Amino acid sequence: MTMTQASGTAVQERVEHVDVLIVGAGISGIGAAYHLREQFPGKSLVVLDALESHGGTWWTHRYPGVRSDSDLFTFGYRFKPWRGASIATSEEILHYLDEVIAENGLDAHIRYQHRITAATWSTNDRRWTVAVARGDTGEELTYTTDFLWMCQGYYRHAQGYTPQWPGIDQFQGQVVHPQTWPDDLDYAGKRVVVIGSGATAATLIPAIAETAGHVTMLQRSPTFFYARPKTHELATTLRALDIPEEWTHEILRRTYIAELNELTRISAESPDDARTFLIESMRPLLPPGIDIDKHFNPTYRPWQQRIAVLPDGDMFAALREGKASVVTDTIETFTEKGIRLASGAELEADVVVTATGFDLSVFGDISFTVDGQPVDWAQTVTYRGLMFTGLPNLAYVFGYFRHSWTLRADLISDFVCRLLRRMEKQGATMVVPALRDEDAGMQLGPWVDPENFNPGYLARSMHLMPKQGDREPWRHLHEYAEEREMLPAADLDDGTLVYR
Ligand SMILES: Cc1cc2nc3c(=O)[nH]c(=O)nc-3n(C[C@H](O)[C@H](O)[C@H](O)COP(=O)(O)OP(=O)(O)OC[C@H]3O[C@@H](n4cnc5c(N)ncnc54)[C@H](O)[C@@H]3O)c2cc1C
Repeated sequence: MTMTQASGTAVQERVEHVDVLIVGAGISGIGAAYHLREQFPGKSLVVLDALESHGGTWWTHRYPGVRSDSDLFTFGYRFKPWRGASIATSEEILHYLDEVIAENGLDAHIRYQHRITAATWSTNDRRWTVAVARGDTGEELTYTTDFLWMCQGYYRHAQGYTPQWPGIDQFQGQVVHPQTWPDDLDYAGKRVVVIGSGATAATLIPAIAETAGHVTMLQRSPTFFYARPKTHELATTLRALDIPEEWTHEILRRTYIAELNELTRISAESPDDARTFLIESMRPLLPPGIDIDKHFNPTYRPWQQRIAVLPDGDMFAALREGKASVVTDTIETFTEKGIRLASGAELEADVVVTATGFDLSVFGDISFTVDGQPVDWAQTVTYRGLMFTGLPNLAYVFGYFRHSWTLRADLISDFVCRLLRRMEKQGATMVVPALRDEDAGMQLGPWVDPENFNPGYLARSMHLMPKQGDREPWRHLHEYAEEREMLPAADLDDGTLVYR
């Protein structure tokens, strides 16, 4: 039943209660819903998403060529075999998610165009009250829940990050951010400059180079690229032998995890060797005579930022064929015709694509309150990078940077289910991480140590995020190799989780 306010906004009178409320229907939220249904079929749940459909990242990003940059054997869930090539398009990923939803009856639990604006915890009531604005009807709804499972990702979906360059207003061409790519953008035969050289630029450039007049990748500093086969030959072999897809999925998962563990280990232990390996793997694929040091040898060590995977070396092929080129320089100003660089050179352009990254969204831009006190996330300390001091009955899925995000989403789902079971057994209605006496004065550091990983979108907003400590369980680990053992073995009764 709804009432109408003086303002004309419809307000729902009835409050709906669910045992678990999942924020976000991206790959994390769909995975969380699956695990909850599997492990607690009796619990009521709802998944709320601000967008018109599921998929999150894969629904939002529609620029040409959009695809995964990690393999789908590990970016896919552990419970549903991936049957395609290792690197997948967004349509293929969305289709996979469609199947997960349909096969597990999750549709009935997901509500789209439901943006959560506020979440308020009451210790007296032992529940969260969640305010929701409906995008389609304009209604304001209220839900209550015992447990809030944050699967809202880490960046704002509505728009990406574009630096404010001087002169951008006088540019006569079109400026486009990949996150809000216009359906009707016509770049055929045109001069396109792509600013940035991360995974997005690496995806976009070969896709548009086919039809554009010429594509220039303009970067301030280089990125590590790694050309990998789009299809793993082991998968081809196993499929040719008619091995069950479940086995192929597990074998390929282990293969990719082992390969990446090795590259991560070498990058940490002997970064110079990792650098040499990556540079030498690029060299034969690049146009002869290109200045590799200037354009392809980053100042940071391998894996301090994400290594951009090139399926079958596609972007290098565009460079070799002369359809694309790379410029390493700093933007001085936009001009009417293009971009003037610090070196004095001018790049003329019809279209400029700003592949300059994301705007970090701190916990879904939801305003949080606990017992009447507004939550300042920067004052909280994370418990294992998934819960937070002072935030009862709440968990957050933040995946890996180097390994696929979903490996951690699956692990966290198991952890949350184990925690819920532990609470049920004890009759606890509240769990909250709290520092012990021995943790007083503990050294606190940023949510992600910039020495470990430092992309721009994190650096810009790190001061808004929770802190991590210098010991277990207050550290936020980023290695699947460590966490796959540690999380399932985490002692839920070590005194850092307080139950009531
Ligand atoms: C183009 C692209 C390619 C990528 N490729 C890879 C890859 O190959 N491998 C990899 O590991 N990672 C990759 N990533 C990182 C990727 O974002 C994550 O791996 C993963 O998709 C995140 O899933 P998620 O469900 O946690 O978050 P998201 O996909 O961001 O989904 C979060 C959902 O929560 C919803 N939401 C947020 N706030 C609210 C709110 N207040 N109320 C209601 N709903 C809300 C959003 O609408 C969204 O649908 C890629 C990222 C991009 C942009």
